[in-house]
Amino acid sequence: MKKTLLLRVSPITAHSDTTLAEYTANELSISKNDITGIRRIRQSIDARSRQVMVQVQVEVFINEPFIKTEVQKFIFKNVSNAEPIIIVGSGPAGIFAAIKIIELGFKPIILERGKEVSERRRDIAQLTKNRIVNPESNYCFGEGGAGTFSDGKLYTRSTKRGDIEHILQLFVSHGAEERILYEAHPHIGTNKLPKIISSMRKTITEHGGEFHFNSKVSELIVENNSCKGVKLSSGETVNGKSVILATGHSARDIFFMLHHQNILIESKPFALGVRIEHPQLLIDSIQYHCNLRGEYLPPASYSLVHQAQGKGVFSFCMCPGGIIAPSMTNPGEVVVNGWSPSRRNNPYANSGLVVSVGKDDFKSFEKHGALAALHFQQAVEQQAFVSGGKNLQAPAQRITDFISGNTSSTLPKNSYFIGTTSVNLREVLPQSVSKSLREGLIAFGKKMKGYITEEGIMVATESRTSSPVRIPRDKETLQHPQVKGLYPCGEGAGYAGGIVSAAMDGERCAKMIGILHTK
Ligand SMILES: Cc1cc2nc3c(=O)[nH]c(=O)nc-3n(C[C@H](O)[C@H](O)[C@H](O)COP(=O)(O)OP(=O)(O)OC[C@H]3O[C@@H](n4cnc5c(N)ncnc54)[C@H](O)[C@@H]3O)c2cc1C
Repeated sequence: MKKTLLLRVSPITAHSDTTLAEYTANELSISKNDITGIRRIRQSIDARSRQVMVQVQVEVFINEPFIKTEVQKFIFKNVSNAEPIIIVGSGPAGIFAAIKIIELGFKPIILERGKEVSERRRDIAQLTKNRIVNPESNYCFGEGGAGTFSDGKLYTRSTKRGDIEHILQLFVSHGAEERILYEAHPHIGTNKLPKIISSMRKTITEHGGEFHFNSKVSELIVENNSCKGVKLSSGETVNGKSVILATGHSARDIFFMLHHQNILIESKPFALGVRIEHPQLLIDSIQYHCNLRGEYLPPASYSLVHQAQGKGVFSFCMCPGGIIAPSMTNPGEVVVNGWSPSRRNNPYANSGLVVSVGKDDFKSFEKHGALAALHFQQAVEQQAFVSGGKNLQAPAQRITDFISGNTSSTLPKNSYFIGTTSVNLREVLPQSVSKSLREGLIAFGKKMKGYITEEGIMVATESRTSSPVRIPRDKETLQHPQVKGLYPCGEGAGYAGGIVSAAMDGERCAKMIGILHTK
């Protein structure tokens, strides 16, 4: 017999299947020997009350053979001789589009400006240790896109836009742990992602897809309003009548290229602010109402939202036990983001803390038309570079000093490896953003007692939260309204915000190509 139960148990009980089975046997008043196995369906932490509990939905197998969670096996045909579909960019949108394209019997040709994971790792080390930004190979560009050296949190609010389960199953079949299938907030970790991404590339190439590194697209070939292929910066051309453009939010040259080719793009609101970092122990004590969280609870996280000065202020991409990463794509700008290893065992908790920015904020950049938001974003990043000392150090301030408006005389230890420079962040961030951030912070301090502390640091700028540009597409066909065969896709085009939503958008574009090509 099988029974599905929703349990609320202590962290120590939830920790192992054995203790969970013992607890369940007790609940059902049966012998623990009658339970042949337990399958977790969903698991989340409930830290709302003093006693932190774990909520687990389980399927209990009683006196019948235990069947483990099935990890889907994906079987693909070889598509070497099939019709080619060009995919520009190998981020989550590009990679998941490519796998879906193979499933549908077409041949993906991925063009990626950056390098493969192992070489890319060296460029990131150069950035962190020697302050050298390679504009083609960094935290955003290269195999796997911004997803490869990301934190690897795999949750999204865009649940209706695609098949999340399918995305997670693909991650598991390429090496991610099975627990991501049941955890409410699945996380892979930066140390594990690169291997998974390389394994996905292997799936693509072993089944006849092509993966070209150091292949930067610099022009779309358009004839009679239809896509005919792309031109690379090397001068080479790649022909194909369907192009999935999945180049991410940091590929400014792609936005310039489209603008230059008179292909419609639009300025778009995004969010701007800082990375905020606290000691992880402090966040644990606030969230878990204790001095030490113990070994059975993961490092605590938080999610905060407030409306200030008519603007949304919110925490974003929280990384418990993580580090603040330099995520600029050009010398002369400072951009930060965050990641954590799978064990989330660094002593700091960082999170984006951002304010939504729109038309009113870009007013002085209006002359740039569709590129107004992009220029506004770039100007703030360049200001951060100058304020940080023009050596990639990030401008920073203690939280308490930011609220009182004083430049910090010293800065607390933090995880931004390149180094931080004490400045008044009100001189780096636009005034409206600073004002809203300050108001938001005061509100967050009331929600989380201890959040406003001189031990906490704010590091600028968190500016690549989403794309400052939208590349329009037709709702029905997902193609650009002016260029048949051009499929704007993923975060850069404005249709995703994170790994899973970008992956789902990649799948959507691929499916649409499948539908339109078989008509
Ligand atoms: C440090 C860090 C941590 C993050 N943590 C998380 C997280 O925990 N969870 C989460 O959901 N999201 C996270 N993100 C965001 C996430 O990585 C992105 O939302 C996601 O990767 C977007 O996918 P994409 O495929 O649309 O674009 P991208 O991943 O940006 O990929 C675009 C690709 O296009 C390539 N490209 C650009 N221009 C060209 C060109 N001209 N020719 C050829 N190729 C080109 C780039 O090199 C890149 O590989 C993080 C990002 C960073 C940087």
